[in-house]
Amino acid sequence: MTGQPKISFLDLRTINNRYQDPLDSAFRRVLESGWFILGKESDAFELEFADYCGSKHCIGVGNGLDALHLILRGFDIGPGDEVLVPANTYIATWLAVSYAGAHPVPVEPISGTCNLDPERIEAAITPQTKAIMVVHLYGQPADMDPICTMARRHGLKVIEDAAQAHGARYKGRRSGSLGDAAGFSFYPGKNLGALGDGGAVTTNDDRLAERLRVLRNYGSKIKYHNEEKGYNTRLDELQAAFLREKLKGLDGDNACRSKLAGRYNELLAGLGLTLPVVPEWAEPAWHLYTVRTPLRDDLQRHLTERGIGTMIHYPIPPHLQRAYADLGFASGTFPISESIHNEILSLPMGPHLGERQVEVVCSALRDFTQRT
Ligand SMILES: *Cc1c(COP(=O)(O)O)cnc(C)c1O
Repeated sequence: MTGQPKISFLDLRTINNRYQDPLDSAFRRVLESGWFILGKESDAFELEFADYCGSKHCIGVGNGLDALHLILRGFDIGPGDEVLVPANTYIATWLAVSYAGAHPVPVEPISGTCNLDPERIEAAITPQTKAIMVVHLYGQPADMDPICTMARRHGLKVIEDAAQAHGARYKGRRSGSLGDAAGFSFYPGKNLGALGDGGAVTTNDDRLAERLRVLRNYGSKIKYHNEEKGYNTRLDELQAAFLREKLKGLDGDNACRSKLAGRYNELLAGLGLTLPVVPEWAEPAWHLYTVRTPLRDDLQRHLTERGIGTMIHYPIPPHLQRAYADLGFASGTFPISESIHNEILSLPMGPHLGERQVEVVCSALRDFTQRT
C-alpha cells in the first residue's frame, strides 16, 4: 500500500518538542545552579507532584521499580513475607517484591478491565501475606474500595503501582492517593515522562516518607552518618526540573488521550473487537488504548503493513517468564491473564496524535474485521 501515512505507536520527539522552550530553560536553570542531586528542583517537584496527586508526601527516586521496592523496604516487608500481585502486569511489579526478598503471589484479573479482581483476593491471603500491590494497568484505575476494605480486614498494606496512571481518577480521587503508598515511574514513554529515568513514591504516611528519604540516599539523613544499609536511588535535579515543566501539561495531555480514546470507542464499536471496559467510577489516564481479538497476530501484521505502529502489552505474563521459572507455574495456571496476553493489542495513543490519525487506524481495523 503506497501513500498511506505512517502512524507511530509513540513519538517522544513530537511529544517533547511541544515543551521545547520550557525544557531548554529548565536545563539552563539547573546548569547555572551548579547543583545536580537533591536540591531545589527535586524539592519543588516533590511538593508539586504530591499536590497534584492529593497526597501528603512525594519522595523522588531513580525509577519506578525502585519506588515500589523502596515502599516494601520502608514497610519492613521482606524474606518470609508474601505480597499479592496481579497475574497480568508488567514484570516490574513482581520484581519489586522479589528485590525486597518477599514472595510474589499472583491473583487473576477481571477479564473486562484487566485489573485485579477484588473477589479473588481473599482466597490468596495466608498468614504470611503483608501487602497487596495493585496495578492501574493501561492507566485504568483498579477497583480500590473493595480491595482496601479486604486489606483492612486482614491488616495488609495497599500499595499502588501507578506507573501507568499519572492523573487517573477513582471515584474522583487521583491515583497516588488511593492506598497506603504509591510508586510512579517517569520513564520517557509514561504519561508524565522524563528525558531519562525517574520515579517517585507518594504517601500520606509521615513515618514511611521519612524512612524513604533516608533509604534512597545511602541510609543517611546527615551526610556521612548512615543509619541503615540504604540505596542510591534519587531523582536528579535535571529530571526533576524537566518533570516540573511537563507536569503543567499533564492534565491537557491526558484530556487529549481521553478524547482519542472516545473516538476509538465510537469508531470501533460493533466490529467484533473487545474494547476497553471503563466502570462508571473510573477516569482512566489512557496510558494505552487496547483492543482484544483471538486474531491478534494477524491484526498486528495487517496494521504494520499499513504503516500503523502497535505494541503488545505484554506478550508473556510474569509467571511464564524464564526469570520466574523458579516459582514453577505451568502454562494454564492463570488462564484469564494468559488469554489477555494472547489477545491484547495496543493501538497508537498519545498527545503526538490527532483525531484524523485515529480515524485512519480505525478504518484499517474495519478493513481487517470485514476481511476475516
Ligand atoms: C513502567 C512500569 C514500571 C517500572 O517503571 P521503571 O521506571 O521503568 O522502573 C512498573 N510497573 C509498571 C506497571 C510499569 O508500567
